[in-house]
Amino acid sequence: MQALTELSDRALHDAVVDAGGKPFQSRQIAHWLWHHGADRFDRMTNVPGPLRQKLAHRFAVRTTDVKHVDLASDGTEKLLIGLGDGETVECVIIPDGERTTLCISTQVGCPVACVFCASGMNGVKRNLTTAEIVEQVLVAKGRLTDGRRLTNLVVMGMGEPMLNLDALLPALQRIHDQDGIGMGARRITVSTSGYPRQMERFAAADPSYNLAVSLHAADDALRRQLVPTASHPVRDIVTAAHRYFGQKGREVTYEVVLLDGRNDRPDDAEALVALLGALPCTVNLIPWNPVEELAVARGLRRPASHRVDGFADALRRGGLKVTVRRQRGADRSAACGQLRLRGGDGHP
Ligand code: SF4
Repeated sequence: MQALTELSDRALHDAVVDAGGKPFQSRQIAHWLWHHGADRFDRMTNVPGPLRQKLAHRFAVRTTDVKHVDLASDGTEKLLIGLGDGETVECVIIPDGERTTLCISTQVGCPVACVFCASGMNGVKRNLTTAEIVEQVLVAKGRLTDGRRLTNLVVMGMGEPMLNLDALLPALQRIHDQDGIGMGARRITVSTSGYPRQMERFAAADPSYNLAVSLHAADDALRRQLVPTASHPVRDIVTAAHRYFGQKGREVTYEVVLLDGRNDRPDDAEALVALLGALPCTVNLIPWNPVEELAVARGLRRPASHRVDGFADALRRGGLKVTVRRQRGADRSAACGQLRLRGGDGHP
């Protein structure tokens, strides 16, 4: 059964009129869907019962449901979202002082296959639809209590966003739109492992979102060890990102997942300084969040904090702005793709 969240505004209007409703009632229903996050027809209290019943014969309200919730002691909530075809994806709510950030997925699995990531272990199964992307935001908003609001959205979960722009761009529009969820574009960041042609298409989108590039290494050979499917030279990726800055006026963030002994050596820091030192950007260092299966099979380790600090200092001495991401949700399935990998119950 199709869901209301899958309908365009025009299609919702037509469905309401077909069911004997008035055009203004389609706007009321849209308000319930996007503004109030109603997930059932009976929540739409100002819509007449007979109209709701007729619509309920033809449509579900949403396409997804929450299969499992992992709540960490620091308040991080990882949600396993069930899709209509039985597949699952993850999204994560990360409270941090006044901020609450949601990290969402764009694909079931991921084709990029970064060596350190659970999401890429079994490749990609399919793209998410626009509704499946937007619903992650609706679900997360519905879980916030105590007056908390969603302040930031990062498209950094499972999947490569640039390989699903057909669904992602309309989803972001719905999330940003004042008649949709109404989240400011400045609070939305999309992360890519680097697809220059798709980054150009992303740059043509209006409004302007923030761009993050998962770089991990400045050297092509080393980067290919970490991101085996990487087919674009690092220089081309950085050129595309810098062009994005030129077009949008939004400083790009480069992300580096740090792995002990692999890409956290002084030479690796020097190479990053040589590549990025003259550019207006920030480098976000992410000490690897261990995934047991990968740590054992691939011999990966999280670097000790003194190595992370030393790496950050070397970048700063080279003139770069640097942030270091704190580990969140550390006690249960914190890394991307881990909850799905374990079937939602926290165990393999
Ligand atoms: S880190 Fe991101 S791009 Fe790499 S495999 Fe995981 S989900 Fe895909």
